[in-house]
Amino acid sequence: MPEFVHVLRGIEDVQREPVSLVSPGQSISVHLWPWPFVGVVCFTFDCEGTYGDGSSFRGETEVVPHLARFFRSHSVKGTFNVLGRMAVEYPTFIGTLHECDQEIAGHGYSHEYLDSMTYSEQMAEINRTVDAIKSITGSDIRGWRSPFATFNRNTYDILVQKGFEWTSNFGRSLWGHLPFQPIIEGETFPIVEIPFDDVHFDAMMFFWIEATAEQIEPLWKNHIVATRRNGLLFVFLAHPVNLAEEPYRVTLIENVLAFAQRFGDIWIASCGEICRWYHTISKVALTVDSARKQGNVAEMKLTIRNSGAVGVNNAAIRVQMSHPIRRVESSRRMPSKSSIEGRPTAALIRLPELKASQETQEILKIHLS
Ligand SMILES: [Zn+2]
Repeated sequence: MPEFVHVLRGIEDVQREPVSLVSPGQSISVHLWPWPFVGVVCFTFDCEGTYGDGSSFRGETEVVPHLARFFRSHSVKGTFNVLGRMAVEYPTFIGTLHECDQEIAGHGYSHEYLDSMTYSEQMAEINRTVDAIKSITGSDIRGWRSPFATFNRNTYDILVQKGFEWTSNFGRSLWGHLPFQPIIEGETFPIVEIPFDDVHFDAMMFFWIEATAEQIEPLWKNHIVATRRNGLLFVFLAHPVNLAEEPYRVTLIENVLAFAQRFGDIWIASCGEICRWYHTISKVALTVDSARKQGNVAEMKLTIRNSGAVGVNNAAIRVQMSHPIRRVESSRRMPSKSSIEGRPTAALIRLPELKASQETQEILKIHLS
């Protein structure tokens, strides 16, 4: 994957979710996703024509409006990362995205490598993109995927300074399948990175390995099944310019979205929605005050704190035991899932609404098989 090797420069580490170990093989943590969702699928589209040279724009003028209406009809938001230049040359599709309540984010002005630009060149590139989109929608964009996923410390300095809330610049093959705050040259940036699928994205499927629709659809669906089973995030990436080449490719996207939605417990969310939830749930922490096992019942006393300034609804706890779980009782009689698809030893327990700065105690009784 030589295209993504340059992403590594200057990045030292990423933060991971805290997990309390109860005993070897058993853990308990604040569930990363809102109840009742066990995993997340995020559809992202880089709207760049053929880098805005005007030679191919059917992706933006035909495919994007179609997808925007399709997503709205399924009551979900996709994330459309738009080249500033495409917004200037083909403003109508931005209007359609806006009307269909889809998320619009930035993808550079003319699709050039940001990491080979000076600070002021990057600033100009980002400002031009923000202004081009704002001239149509009336609002500032809050999300960013760099052209070719290129960036350096300056990029993040500028994005944070300009109030960006999320980026999607890190490939999940190296950086994992969960959001995180990037650490670049030792500095943690107050921005949420939503790592994208750099393994099974559209160009890889259609052009590099030349897979057929019959091969691609089950592969993407399997990835969704695995995402759900493991409580992860799958950030699908496609380019409307590629989808416009063959009608079956849009059908593939529609089939995959419908497949994910049928489970009922997969959150189909935009990058912005994931970012906002990540901030909310990051303020919720739990400690295990005591844990004991009597017969087939494990009992845990927990303290749960919301250190945030806003209330949290739909938070949940994820428990991993070393034996299959039969059922879970919580002291507040909150709903639970006594197993997660394919994971009979894992359970989710919904938490009551946590008010701002609230601390609460909870007792869980986990009945094991
Ligand atoms: Zn691009």
